[in-house]
Amino acid sequence: MNVTFFSAKPYDKTFFSELNKQYQFDLTFFETHLGPHIVNAVKENTFCVCVFVNDKLTDEVITILGAKGVKLIALRCAGFNNVDLESAKRNGIHVCRVPAYSPEAVAEHAVAMILALNRKIHKAYNRVREQNFALDGLLGFNLHGKKIGVIGTGKIGKAFIKIMLGFGCTVFAYDKFPDSNFHAPGFSYVSFEQLLRESDVISLHCPLTSENHYMINDAALSMMKPGIMIINTSRGGLINTDDMIKGLKSGKVGYFGLDVYEQEEKLFFRDLSASIIEDDRIQRLMSFPNVLVTGHQAFFTNEALTEIASTTLNSIALVHAGKINQVAAGIILT
Ligand code: NAD
Repeated sequence: MNVTFFSAKPYDKTFFSELNKQYQFDLTFFETHLGPHIVNAVKENTFCVCVFVNDKLTDEVITILGAKGVKLIALRCAGFNNVDLESAKRNGIHVCRVPAYSPEAVAEHAVAMILALNRKIHKAYNRVREQNFALDGLLGFNLHGKKIGVIGTGKIGKAFIKIMLGFGCTVFAYDKFPDSNFHAPGFSYVSFEQLLRESDVISLHCPLTSENHYMINDAALSMMKPGIMIINTSRGGLINTDDMIKGLKSGKVGYFGLDVYEQEEKLFFRDLSASIIEDDRIQRLMSFPNVLVTGHQAFFTNEALTEIASTTLNSIALVHAGKINQVAAGIILT
């Protein structure tokens, strides 16, 4: 039974091949993204294609997969904004994902970005290597007592909130579907506008949907405190990059940490150190001293990769055995 991987990296091969010893599926790994240019490389009667965040599962691609007999699209990630689910249904293809491989991995990375930006660890590291032990320019602020705004209180948002409460912060959250069972001292749900107006740090933890595309734009930035810190480990399309660059240039945005970027599929997950990057927006962002960019690495822990491989292979095995009703509701999407 063949499973064809796209966007496969050496670490995907390592973790999936190890756990596949118990399943003995026939695994094929392609490094390239899945899209119209390569979909014909999928062999006839392949049971499953296993994809990641930047593979493009458009109607065109899914229709070709359906014609080849593919029965399952297995996302080895939580977000599924890159898959046309209606097309998958029409083509009789199931879609599964890994909804909760390690919320703590992403939450901890968001906290790492806050601490690094605030205490300027990225600058201190370089400075000390030049034997420059001066402190000028490295002044930070205490997180204790600050107001943290969290957009999206799902698994990652909640893990993040618990850490920030541990720092002695007050945490505000906005969620389209607030969790009435989630209570903690120092935590409260507020409106989107109140969160924008009162937070010292805003961290995004909601999925990207058609309705919240560019939720952080000129209008939202204008409501925020001057010098706001914004952290995005969720999806690039939640932020209008041009508006963010304007906010950084004017000083309205004091710090910006991004692990995701709206044009990331042309950049992230590959070594471009010897290439000319044509994307002027990311180059502009990286030129600011108060911007920290990581290349979609928030999920990248040993625990998370083990969980991703194990949940994905288990789902593939259950769907292949016709036991789709045994795949948990949050995992199976169609
Ligand atoms: P989740 O489904 O558990 O929680 C998402 C929360 O967002 C839910 O509470 C939902 O009600 C809320 N929400 C939905 N639409 C909203 C809106 N328009 N405004 C405000 N809140 C809204 O998801 P999760 O596991 O916590 O993951 C959150 C996001 O993190 C994922 O969708 C994905 O985009 C991103 N992610 C990034 C990485 C990374 O490596 N950087 C890894 C995993 C997930």
